[in-house]
Formats: sequence, C-alpha cells, structure tokens
Amino acid sequence: MTILDTRNDDTLLVTVPNKLLIAGEWRDSVAGGTFDVHNPATGSVLRTIANADADDGRAALDAAAAAQHGWARTTPHERSAILHRAYDRIITEKEALAYVMTLEMGKPLADARGEVQYAADFFKWFAEEAVRIHGTHALAPDGRGQILTVREPVGPCLLITPWNFPLAMGARKMGPAIAAGCTIVFKPAPQTPLSSLSLARILQKAGLPAGVLNLLTTTRAGEVVEPMLRSGIIRKMSFTGSTQTGRILLEQSASAIVRTSMELGGNAPFIVFEDADLDVAVNAAVAAKMRNMGEACTAANRLYVHESIAEDFTAQLTARFEALTIGDGTAEGVDVGPLIDAPSLAKVQGLVDRAVNAGARIRTGGAPLGGAGYFYPPTVLTDIPDGSDILSTEIFGPVAPIVTFTDEDAVVAEANATEWGLVGYVITQDIDRANRVTAALEVGMVGLNTGVVSNVAAPFGGVKQSGLGREGGHLGIDEFLNHKYIAIPAPKPASSSGA
Ligand code: NAP
Repeated sequence: MTILDTRNDDTLLVTVPNKLLIAGEWRDSVAGGTFDVHNPATGSVLRTIANADADDGRAALDAAAAAQHGWARTTPHERSAILHRAYDRIITEKEALAYVMTLEMGKPLADARGEVQYAADFFKWFAEEAVRIHGTHALAPDGRGQILTVREPVGPCLLITPWNFPLAMGARKMGPAIAAGCTIVFKPAPQTPLSSLSLARILQKAGLPAGVLNLLTTTRAGEVVEPMLRSGIIRKMSFTGSTQTGRILLEQSASAIVRTSMELGGNAPFIVFEDADLDVAVNAAVAAKMRNMGEACTAANRLYVHESIAEDFTAQLTARFEALTIGDGTAEGVDVGPLIDAPSLAKVQGLVDRAVNAGARIRTGGAPLGGAGYFYPPTVLTDIPDGSDILSTEIFGPVAPIVTFTDEDAVVAEANATEWGLVGYVITQDIDRANRVTAALEVGMVGLNTGVVSNVAAPFGGVKQSGLGREGGHLGIDEFLNHKYIAIPAPKPASSSGA
C-alpha cells in the first residue's frame, strides 16, 4: 500500500504494509477479511487493511512464544543496535511518518512531527538502557551467604495501544520490550493502524528477527485479546487506553496472573494561583489543553483559577484560542485538526451542551463546525454549575472549563475529588506553595509552571484509577524484566574442604 503526497503532487511518500505481521511474514487474515481506515478530516476511506480474528491471534501468539527463547539469548549489544538503527530510520522518514499520522489521526503536521521525534527518542533511550540491565549483590546481614539478583526478560508480551498518539504509544512499549529481550504481540487501535504498520516495517528493516514482533490490526479486540490473556503464554500485558477498558483487561489478566502495566485515563486539574505569572499560566494552559486537540490523557480537564485573576486569565485564554487556525492537519499552519471520529465529536458536544443548558457561559466556540470531518472549535466555558459532568468526565476535546476558587486547601481537595490521578498542573511563583501543592495532589505527575510533562527520560504514569506501573525513564524497562534472586551460601571453612 502506498501513501502519496497529495499536498503538492502525487509523488510516492512512503509504502505502508496493509497486512498482519506474523512470524516475520506479512499475511492476510485467514478468515477475518479487511476493514477500512478513515481520514477524520474528510470522513473518507484512507486505506483498507487486514482484520485479524482469533485464529490470527493464536498464530501471532505461537510465533511470539517460539521466538522467545532465542531472542532472550541475544546480547544486549545486538538488541541495542537494532533499536539504534530503527531510531535512525524513523528520523530519516520523519516527514513521511508525520504525514501518515496526520492523515489517519487528524493532528496537525507540526504536532505529528513532534510525535515522530518523541517516538524515535524512546527507541534511542531504550537502546541505551538495553546495555544497563543490572542486578544487585549483597552480603546476607546474618553472614550466611550472599544475595545475588539478576534481571531476566519476563517473556512474551501483549501490547495494546490507543489512537491518540499512534506512533509514540507503541514505541514507548516496544522500545523497552525489545531492549529487555521480550517477544511481542502488538495490537494498535483500529482508527490509526498505519503508523504502527510503518513502525513494524522499520523494525523489520532494522534487523528485528522473525517472530519477535507480531502485529495484529483488528476491529475484533475482545475476540482476539481475551484468549491470549487466558492462554498462560502471555507473561506481560502493557495497555494504554481508557480506565473502562483497563478494568476489563485487568480482570482477564487475573486468570493466568499476567503481569500488567496500565496507562489509563485522566482528569487533570490545572490550578492557577493568584501569585502566578499570567503569561506563564496562559501559555501552559494552551499547551496542556490544545496539544493533540485536547485528545491526550494529560490534557488539562478542569481549569481552577483564583477568583482575583480569573477574568484576566479567561480573556487572554479566549483570545489565544480564537487565534488558532482550524483545518485539515495536512495543511501547513493549521493548529487544530479534527477529532478522531463521529462518536468523539458527539461526546464533546454533549458535555458542552449539558453544561450550557445547566447555566455555563460560552466565551468562545461551543458548537461543532459542521461539514465533512469531525471539527470542534477551541472552546472556553465559565460559570460551570456544580456537579456538571464536564468536570467529572475525561473530555478528550478542545474545551477548557474554567472554575474559580479562593482557598488553597479547598481547591486541592476539589482537584483530588476524582477517581483519576494521572497528572496535575500547578501555576504559582510561591516556592512554599509549590512544595505544598505538588505534595498534596494525588497524581503520578505534576507540571509546575509548565503545561507539558512528557519526556522519554521521565517515569510516565498515574496513581488511583489512572494506572499501574511507569513507562519511560529508568523504570520503563523494569516493567519487562523479572528479578531473579540466587542464594549463594557462605563458603565452607578451609579445614572442611578436604585440602
Ligand atoms: P480504549 O477504547 O480503551 O481503547 C484502547 C485500546 O484498547 C484500543 O486498541 C482498543 O481497540 C483496545 N480495546 C478496547 N476494548 C478492548 C477489549 N475488550 N479487549 C482488548 N482490547 C480492547 O481507549 P481509546 O479511546 O483508544 O483511547 C483514549 C483513552 O486512552 C483515554 O482514556 C486516554 O486518557 C487514554 N490514554 C492514556 C494514556 C496514558 O499514558 N495514561 C496515553 C494515551 C491515552 P478497539 O478500539 O478496537 O476497541
């Protein structure tokens, strides 16, 4: 399958596979047929690709199991070199990968280019981690020997990703799995499989042996995944997606006691205190809300602004939102692309409509743009009534609900009054307040005077119902390694050795 550059002329930009990757071969589904991938900016069909069923799932599982023993015995240098080569290739193909991502997901090209770099950086980071899989050594405190620990690959892994970061979410899981010596069955989201297919092609070209990565594109997630989780062959499941799906997968993982890493949803509070630098606050809010059109687990979902600066902040944020250019993300200069699909558009619209019907005030935006594609404008809401579901639901769209506050303890309590705990944002120039509030927030990550927390070198993840485990940083590879303890007795005294 080829992707042509439709911006200027129809030159070949990149070739994207449209089949399943199983045991090193690109195959059609035996009996599952195909499905269409859509362009959310136009609603039109972009490509038709293989649709895996449970039998294809079994074949992928068998391939991963068969490759595990040999792959675990490769040297860290070999695995590291493959990831380094994949990094180089991603960078070489950056423009084409960004274009494919924008076509299938809708995000503006500038965002897509940033994500390609972010994805590549995970491969580089884990190429470097592959050669630092250290164990520990200690003398037993009671003197009865030594305690040696080594870290070993956990075994065949199932990786499941969402559509909102089509390249980075897969790279954030595949990088450490490959570095650790684990084989993979990878199931990307059906809305955005082309980026994952491209990544698999690149890893193959980089020298990843047959069977180490098996890729299943499918619209039958439940039918394909559940038997794998119950098989006893998959030893690790790493999932990024909604908390709702995460709960189902955790239950299924329990049957064979599969180790899990769960990167789930969020409901990020963004708190602007009265001592904030207003420019910093507005810049951070634009970044935290509008990156990826608000379709990010880290998106600011509830903006709490101190009453004394709320009107200035709202006016400036509204002006910034109104200055953004909305359109097909493949056009240069576009800041806001379409939402992913019709249900997402309807969900965002429903949340805004219900808030407005209950008394919220629209400062800008507030209604879909209509026409082809799933466009919703950047929207600012104020005067949100207590109990509005827009404050308790992950919006996943470009809507900023602003709530005013006067008391630090009360706003922290409100920020924590949610089942989620992925990220929180704190905007203040007071160092004591910064220390107090970052400590008090029940989250896995805090953005202090910034609207962006993602960094390949940092541990990404949440607390409460936002997930289990961490991705990236030094902890990321540990999710794919078991610690083995070897007990070494104290040496026998020389007199009893027979010497
Ligand atoms: P989703 O509906 O939970 O889907 C995520 C993935 O799970 C997709 O590949 C989906 O495939 C698959 N899936 C759904 N039901 C399944 C089942 N029963 N068995 C096996 N797989 C199943 O989430 P989404 O709408 O794609 O993504 C948005 C969510 O992801 C948001 O909540 C966002 O916060 C979260 N997210 C979290 C992070 C993080 O790092 N914490 C990062 C990005 C996104 P199908 O679509 O075919 O069902």
